[in-house]
Order: sequence, then C-alpha cells, then structure tokens
Amino acid sequence: MLVVMKAQATPEEVRAVCEYIEKLGFRAHPLPGAQRTAIGITGNQGEVERGNLEELSGVAEVIRVSKPYKLASRDVKEEDTIIRFAGTDAAIGGRDLAVIAGPCSIENRDQAFAIAEQVAAAGAQFFRGGAFKPRTSPYAFQGMGLEALRIMAEIRDRFGLRIVTEALDSETLELVAEWADVIQIGARNMQNFSLLKKAGKLRKPVLLKRGLSATLEEFLMAAEYVMSEGNYQVILCERGVRTFNDHARNTLDLSVVPAVQRVSHLPILVDPSHGTGRRDSVLPMARAAVACGADGIIVEVHNQPEKALSDGPQSIYPDQFARMMDEIAQIAPVIGRTLPRGIHVSAIAE
Ligand code: PEP
Ligand code: MN
Repeated sequence: MLVVMKAQATPEEVRAVCEYIEKLGFRAHPLPGAQRTAIGITGNQGEVERGNLEELSGVAEVIRVSKPYKLASRDVKEEDTIIRFAGTDAAIGGRDLAVIAGPCSIENRDQAFAIAEQVAAAGAQFFRGGAFKPRTSPYAFQGMGLEALRIMAEIRDRFGLRIVTEALDSETLELVAEWADVIQIGARNMQNFSLLKKAGKLRKPVLLKRGLSATLEEFLMAAEYVMSEGNYQVILCERGVRTFNDHARNTLDLSVVPAVQRVSHLPILVDPSHGTGRRDSVLPMARAAVACGADGIIVEVHNQPEKALSDGPQSIYPDQFARMMDEIAQIAPVIGRTLPRGIHVSAIAE
C-alpha cells in the first residue's frame, strides 16, 4: 500500500500520516520525490485496512502496489534514486556515470596504492578492493581483512576516491560499514536474507550484485529486504549469470538494465569483469553497458594481473582502464549522460 501525499503537504502532515501508519502496527517509509512525498507501507501480511488514511490531512490518495517489491518499485517513487557522497561531487544514479575501479583483492599496500594512483589519474571516483573474499576454494586467498580496510582508508585520504568493498557475512558487516563508503553484497550472498536485513539497518549505501541465477524479481526482492529495514540507498549491479555458454565465465545480461529501469527507481551498474571473466571482453562490454543506459561500471584493474592473487585473467591493465574511460566518455553524451573525470572533495567536509 502506498499513501501519496498532496504536492503541497507539509512535513507535519507527512509525519502525522507516518505516525498513524505505525500506530496501526505497520512500518511507514516516507520517500520524498520531486513533485510529492509518497509513504510506503510495509509489515502487513495482507491488505492494509484503508480506514481513515484517505481522510488524513495532506493525503492525495491511497493506492495498492501490485508488485511484490514495493519500496524498490517505480510505483512508489517515480524519479531515479541518486546516491550522493557527503563532501564530494560523486554520485551514483542520475546524469553522471559512476566508475568504480580497482583490484579484485587488496594484496599489499604497494599494489593497492599503485593501482589507486593510476585509476584516480584516469578519472575514477570510486576505488574497489576486496578485503574479505568469497572464493570457490577454501584454499584460495581469502583476503587481508582489516589490514586491507585500513589500506583503502589511506587511499581515500590520499586520492579522495570513495571506497567500495564487500561484506562477506554478518560478522564482518559492521567492520566493513565502519571503513567503507559503499558496502558490497556479493552475488553469492544476494539471497542471504539475514545479511540483507542487517545491511538494511545500516545507513550506508549497499551495492547489491545480482545472484548467479537470479531473476529480475528475485534481484529486486533482495533489494527490498535492505529497503524494508529503512536503508533506501541500494545500488544494483549486473555481473553476469550462469548459462550454457562456454566462451566466457558468465553471460553478461545487459538486457536486465532497461528491464530494471522500467520497474525500479534504483541505480544499476554493470560489472564487465565478472560478467565475462576475460580481459579482452571487458572494454567492449563496458562500452555496451554505457550505451544501454547503465548508471556506471565496476571494473577490476590490476598493475600486474599475471601475478594477481584473484581474478587476474579478467583484470585489465591501467592503460586499458584509461582507454575505457576515454571511450565511455565519448559514448555518454549520445545517450544524455556525462562522465565526470576525478572526484572533488571539499576540505571542510573532510
Ligand atoms: C567481486 O566483486 O570481487 C566479486 C566477488 O563479485 P561477485 O559477487 O559478483 O562474484
Ligand atoms: Mn573478483
């Protein structure tokens, strides 16, 4: 159920409606839009008794949201969600494309700094690096943990880049939230519902990667888990799904980008690295991702990919990353987007 407030409704009227909903035993989610505020109602098993909702001051109408995902749906919020990063000009969603670049894993301080310096010089605004790694083999490199988080915090201080890193489980979620600007939830955890709920209690953006065989509805329901707990800052990410193909690690499903945008206001990024698993496919698919309307790219970059402790074969070299930036900068204006080059950090906020 969704309560649409009148365009001229006051903040007090919005508050009074939220209190009324909570008194009925439901949860109210006020979502301000450009024209008017909508209040999503969750926590109900069946239909919410409309009762006097329609009569409350400032209410324009009460409508049923027919989709299983509510807060993630465009029915609830028409305008695209834009996630901003305090004290910087970086944003995910909206007109500007967001580029997140860095190694699959943080391996040591020198490696991380060398890559960060080069992706910053090429104009990335976000740095990625795994501290806690979901690996198929328990014998493979599992990540440097807290030490990697510390290195990335230093990278943020030195280059201004905002930090994206994965929280692998409930045990490390708070630690990651403390150090990172964006908490990644990986493909394998897309339906880890207790982790999603815990991430929903935080007030940090969550980058949610699509599960290996998740349908659009399952993907959006995973986002809904985070949002239902009050964290509306969810960024979706297409990273390839499992198919019969054997020419690539996964099949990068770019068709999900317009499909998401049709039904959801959440930003969606594309990961051409995990999506293909092959260095020679990363640039073409990054170009295609921008052309099809993705809100940005998350890409693995390594200065010595042949020595990488994880995902070397799909990691591009820094000079390839610089070329990717030049190419997508040219594609962006064709579809009314822009590629910001570099991040500006205001000294005061820092
Ligand atoms: C990653 O980003 O390094 C990663 C493990 O991604 P995914 O969850 O998409 O496999
Ligand atoms: Mn990886």
